[in-house]
Amino acid sequence: MNVPFLSLKDISAKYAEEIHDAVRRVIDSGWYLQGKENEAFEQHYANFVGTKFCIGCANGLDALIWIFRAYIEQGTMIPGDEVIVPANTYIATILAITENGLKPVLVEPDFATLELDDSRIEEVITPRTKAICIVHLYGRNAMTEHIVQLCEKHKLKLIEDNAQAHGCKYNGKHTGSLGDAAGHSFYPGKNLGAIGDGGAVTTNDKELADCIRTLANYGSQKKYYFKYQGRNSRLDEIQAVVLDVKLRHLEEDNLLRQQVAAYYYDNIQNPLVTLPKRLPNENNVYHLFPVFCEKRDELQSYLSENGVQTLIHYPIPPHLQECYSGVWEGSHFPITEKLAKQELSLPISQVLRDDQIGEVVRLVNAFK
Ligand SMILES: *Cc1c(COP(=O)(O)O)cnc(C)c1O
Repeated sequence: MNVPFLSLKDISAKYAEEIHDAVRRVIDSGWYLQGKENEAFEQHYANFVGTKFCIGCANGLDALIWIFRAYIEQGTMIPGDEVIVPANTYIATILAITENGLKPVLVEPDFATLELDDSRIEEVITPRTKAICIVHLYGRNAMTEHIVQLCEKHKLKLIEDNAQAHGCKYNGKHTGSLGDAAGHSFYPGKNLGAIGDGGAVTTNDKELADCIRTLANYGSQKKYYFKYQGRNSRLDEIQAVVLDVKLRHLEEDNLLRQQVAAYYYDNIQNPLVTLPKRLPNENNVYHLFPVFCEKRDELQSYLSENGVQTLIHYPIPPHLQECYSGVWEGSHFPITEKLAKQELSLPISQVLRDDQIGEVVRLVNAFK
């Protein structure tokens, strides 16, 4: 049996008619950028997340870049200021910080939950710390009461990277509405994915929202007048309508992911394979289903030889990447490095069939 890691073709096919109708509507309208479809999606997504504002932009990396850039334009942050961020995040979070001349301060995750270990935050706070950027990695919530308290106590901005957790909740509120601003990615493979690139910022801060909208539109509010040295970072009308269709189905799709995950938790039993801790009321939307194995590479080859495709998220942590060589020299992040050595993501999505899920479990359990 063949079990692909993620079939985007099947994901689009599920809502083919609605998506085709919507795309045709845009093509036939003759209006392709900054039109009413963007406005409608932004409104719907803001309502869904639970924030006053949503600004569509070109991709998730830009969404994060714009948040920090807007704080710099406003004078809330200046280059050289520090931003606390989990060491095991995807590189985009770190790039958004360094792109703005800010300094990422890496903090280890908790090995059991994979999310930022909040007990390690306070020790790295300095007078230059301006923000904590939490990342809801793998579809799990990363927010904690202690993080809220630290932000209040030290007057820090709380920024969320919600690229992997569309629909996840913390205390009844959606991730993306928990802090001062959040960046979202609509990369095709994300829980809410476009048919190309897309991203958005959500926030309740009107000034920040206005600034970001301006930055992402060449720095211009009024045609041919440029307030900032911005860039072209727009979400197009075709992506907006596709996202609007998929947003309507997001909760049912996430429910299907949760059912796959529940089956994995109930049936995977192999002393060589560890599953992440399952928390009560965790509202995990399972962007990924990571498992951990000391013989990870052998497990991956074994699954692959038997038709099951897996991926590693992520094989090399940011502090060991060539692009940051020398930046964290002498620093050690053993938990992050252990995760990178042992992590393997099993197939999970809203279009996996029962027989495919059963096959994954059978093979993982048979691995020796
Ligand atoms: C995907 C992702 C991003 C970046 O999104 P793009 O749309 O690919 O630019 C940022 N942060 C995290 C954690 C991601 O997984």
